[in-house]
Amino acid sequence: MAEFYIDTTAQSNGEYIVHNASCTLLPPKESRRYLGSIASCNSALKKAAEMFKPVNACPQCASACHTA
Ligand SMILES: [Zn+2]
Repeated sequence: MAEFYIDTTAQSNGEYIVHNASCTLLPPKESRRYLGSIASCNSALKKAAEMFKPVNACPQCASACHTA
């Protein structure tokens, strides 16, 4: 399990990025929302997509789930 957050500020391409708690690119507290302790980045993306669209995984901390 890992703790996941979503950046609540959209990127320039409109995507909202999902990070895990240890990522160096994690945005400051006021610009992120806690998603929970989640087993995989795929599950974290699904959860994030209930609140934000479109979502993508961070290429640095969740590269396995990142869609280029
Ligand atoms: Zn990240």
